Amino acid sequence: MTSANSRRSTTSPLDGVRRRGAFVDGSEVVPAEGTYVPVEDPSSGKVLAEVLSSPAALVDSAMTSAARSLRSREWGPSVSPYERGRLLARIAALIRSNHEELALIETLDTGKPISQAKSDIALTATYFDFYGSLCDKIGGESIPLPDTHFAFTVHEPYGVVGHILPWNSPASQFGRGVAPSLACGNSVVVKPSETAPLSTLYLATLLHDAGLPKGACNVVTGSGSSTGETLAAHATLGLLVFTGSVETGAHVMGVAAANIVPCKLELGGKSAALVFSDARINQAVAAAITAVTRNAGQSCLALSRFLVQRQILDQFVERLSETIRRLVIRPAIEDPDVGPLVSRRQLERVLDYVSRAGQDGASIICGGERVRGLGLDSGYFMAPAVLTDVAPTARVVKEEVFGPVLSILPFDGEQEAIDLANSTRYGLVSAVFTTDFARAHRVAARLEAGQVHVNDYPAGGVGLPFGGYKQSGIGREKGVQAMAEYSQVKTIAGRISMDDLDG
Ligand code: NDP
Repeated sequence: MTSANSRRSTTSPLDGVRRRGAFVDGSEVVPAEGTYVPVEDPSSGKVLAEVLSSPAALVDSAMTSAARSLRSREWGPSVSPYERGRLLARIAALIRSNHEELALIETLDTGKPISQAKSDIALTATYFDFYGSLCDKIGGESIPLPDTHFAFTVHEPYGVVGHILPWNSPASQFGRGVAPSLACGNSVVVKPSETAPLSTLYLATLLHDAGLPKGACNVVTGSGSSTGETLAAHATLGLLVFTGSVETGAHVMGVAAANIVPCKLELGGKSAALVFSDARINQAVAAAITAVTRNAGQSCLALSRFLVQRQILDQFVERLSETIRRLVIRPAIEDPDVGPLVSRRQLERVLDYVSRAGQDGASIICGGERVRGLGLDSGYFMAPAVLTDVAPTARVVKEEVFGPVLSILPFDGEQEAIDLANSTRYGLVSAVFTTDFARAHRVAARLEAGQVHVNDYPAGGVGLPFGGYKQSGIGREKGVQAMAEYSQVKTIAGRISMDDLDG
């Protein structure tokens, strides 16, 4: 399957509409008879490429190739941790030297402004450096027993790790999951979203070009319901890592459970910022602007609920809406403040949330409508929306909108703010704005969220463990913590001395 019909390429989507296949066993597979689905530039609606819907047989080839790479002794636990680390560093360097091209692909494919795409690609490279540097530094433990016995633990790879990615930041999510997988000696099969698969394919070729043996990193393109489901159900999987919505995550976990395959789930959020009356208001406003401009609010950690102490509510809303109205909305390649939403479907979904909130009595202070004119008509642009007078039980407050929509709710006391923040099924991220240091700690301790950001947003980087409380997920990505979750512990114990045995 990989010979006559195959070709490898790292050319830009700017080169014109062309077919892209899966990346299996070290080369791109572009079957002449396959089904191909168009991938759009959300800034213009133009087709960038046609991407293969990988059939079950190709997913199977990818899994076989990934398993074979571990048996070949060219990859996996047979390769010294030091050498694995050096390879990951070479991958990081190659990503950096292809930075411009990768950023361009990510911008065109996802609609994120080019400067955001550039920082995503820099982040992708950093993941490979970070986990590469840890390869030979994490060991097991020696457990004390009587002096006749010994016991120690070793961390071993799971085998083939399946990664299912969403469309919002595919390159950096590839780095976040694939780098620690490889660092621990696993091989991977990655399924990007059908909506934005191009940077993932490009990255797979770079990993191979950096010297990763064939089969250690495979990419199967195609839809979730077909290619994704086939991957999740595959009996060869050692671990499944899913990033996406709660509903799909729960379904995928059920599919993997049939083979008792463990799952790491990185799911959605409805993150709250608590803004106390003693806060530096500009810091909180800046966080709200970041929340709507970063990937047009299509970010799992986007702050989408601002809980503001009543004394400063009017001031906060006024400063925020003034700033939001000035944001420049343009095609992603022009590096605006706000780019398009990823697809017509996503645009319609987000606009629907705003108009229903309006029908239910919310005040739409600004935005919330599709942006047209000035060459934007064929793209999926909307003006970021600020909503007030929303009930704490309204859908727009409870559900993840995944777009540039901020709900502002007032509170009086600290406990009320904490209760409001904790009143959704999500628990990914929270933020606290206050100049009272004791309050910051007190509140952070009571928030049900995997990360709490204090007077800054987003705070931190690759070294900080990230993941959800409640329905926002299971497990942690990033940080040293993730290394533990991409390997399994084996305990080896036994007798040292034969002297105490009879005979
Ligand atoms: P979805 O859950 O719709 O899709 C995520 C991935 O799952 C896609 O690759 C999709 O494929 C695939 N998929 C869909 N159905 C199945 C299935 N039956 N079996 C296997 N795979 C399937 O999420 P979105 O892509 O819409 O992404 C947005 C969501 O992701 C938001 O909820 C967001 O919060 C969350 N997210 C979480 C992050 C985190 O780190 N916690 C980071 C980024 C996003 P396809 O698209 O090709 O159909």
